Amino acid sequence: MGWKVRRKPISKGKCAFCGQVIAKSGMRTHFESCKARKNVAAILNKDAEAKPTSFFHLAIEGRDAPEYWMHLEIPADHTLADLDEYLRDIWLECCGHLSQFIIGSVSYMGQPDEAMFFEEDGEEFDPLTGELPPDAPEELKQMVESFRQFLNTIPEEMRNNLMDDIEEKDMDVPLSEVLKPGMKFTHEYDFGTTTELKLVVVSRYDGKIAKDDEDPIHVMARNNPPELVCEVCGKPATLVCSECIWGGEGFVCNDHATEHNLDMLLPVVNSPRIGMCGYTGEAPEDWAFWVDDPSYYQDDEDDEFDDDEEDDT
Ligand SMILES: [Zn+2]
Ligand SMILES: [Zn+2]
Ligand SMILES: [Zn+2]
Ligand SMILES: [Zn+2]
Repeated sequence: MGWKVRRKPISKGKCAFCGQVIAKSGMRTHFESCKARKNVAAILNKDAEAKPTSFFHLAIEGRDAPEYWMHLEIPADHTLADLDEYLRDIWLECCGHLSQFIIGSVSYMGQPDEAMFFEEDGEEFDPLTGELPPDAPEELKQMVESFRQFLNTIPEEMRNNLMDDIEEKDMDVPLSEVLKPGMKFTHEYDFGTTTELKLVVVSRYDGKIAKDDEDPIHVMARNNPPELVCEVCGKPATLVCSECIWGGEGFVCNDHATEHNLDMLLPVVNSPRIGMCGYTGEAPEDWAFWVDDPSYYQDDEDDEFDDDEEDDT
């Protein structure tokens, strides 16, 4: 007798250099011995036209969904803003929410429009007295308002200490100024339905950027999509209910879409933001196949309405 332990399947991913599929936990060691990776570096090293640079190797995963993970290399002279943009593109962007990196006790805010937070002369926004422009996003207004309420509940001396401790900067900072090998830090996208990422600086090394490489942020490895199955029939899930996902449920195939509120369904995508807010990522264009199909809207309510009419006559 004993408890049946439901093990999570081992997360695997592909090395971008050699194509081998390897368990998440073995990927870092693999990079040290990957011949294909060494070949790429050797070829670039001999290339007189390639530009020398220093790279950071970052390992990144979803805090609440570690089965979504990635290894990146990014030039050290790129900024936090560049990294933020990259993470948004590949994993996060749904509707232009705010984001931040937290490195040590410093928060680096990413904002769609910098002038919203920082005044023209570069002065930082004071959360106690600063006025937001009337057209600032609702999300930001609420954030400032609740922070202000919180600050007003604590004694003044403590408040001043706290304000000194929280340093808020923008993301126009080169990675070389804030990252060191071995460091751990976090990234948060959307301060309402937050997707939090954990990042580790695996190493820093010298390398070269190919002459025609216009975007030298490289995915070194990325997780294979987790095998999510329809809760009704067990076939691969294509959709997830953004209400039920909070309980770890709500995965369905196209045939069983109507088991959930259609308005709440989002596509299954390979991202830690799966099922959040309005995230559709790299879903095929027809993922919301029911939208133009009236048969999905002739539901029970209409039948009842017809019955009532008959009763009245
Ligand atoms: Zn490899
Ligand atoms: Zn959103
Ligand atoms: Zn199904
Ligand atoms: Zn649901």
